[in-house]
Amino acid sequence: MGFSTYFSSRIDFLIRIKLTKFNQFKILIMSYIITSPCIGVCDTSCVDVCPVDCIHGPLKTDGSGSEVAELKEKEDGLKGLQLFIDPETCIVCGACLPECPVNAIYGSEDEVPEEERASIRKNYEFFGQTCPPEYM
Ligand code: SF4
Ligand code: SF4
Repeated sequence: MGFSTYFSSRIDFLIRIKLTKFNQFKILIMSYIITSPCIGVCDTSCVDVCPVDCIHGPLKTDGSGSEVAELKEKEDGLKGLQLFIDPETCIVCGACLPECPVNAIYGSEDEVPEEERASIRKNYEFFGQTCPPEYM
């Protein structure tokens, strides 16, 4: 494996280490990820318990689910929509995970099952961030 190649390591399930092409280590914190079972549900239970207000959507990147109530009033208003966790802000506290009624939240990118891989990219891209290539 060359120096320009990413490699992942788990330390306490929270941190991955990236070796850059300049042979320097960069430490990235893992993020909780919301997956497809949230689509059409968006009940915002997770938003209510997040201590750093990093769960947003389904439309606004800073609205903390505030638009959900209005969307629910419309027929199919939440169709195809879900909330997302801002990977750069999540402090991996775990408070959101037990609150989800549809088990849509995973404790890190590595824990997201293969069939939900697209959800990892969606969480990053919703906030205009670049998904780590190993999860693309
Ligand atoms: S793990 Fe904690 S900080 Fe991250 S989204 Fe869930 S509640 Fe918020
Ligand atoms: S608690 Fe689950 S279903 Fe509700 S908004 Fe959060 S991730 Fe979506």
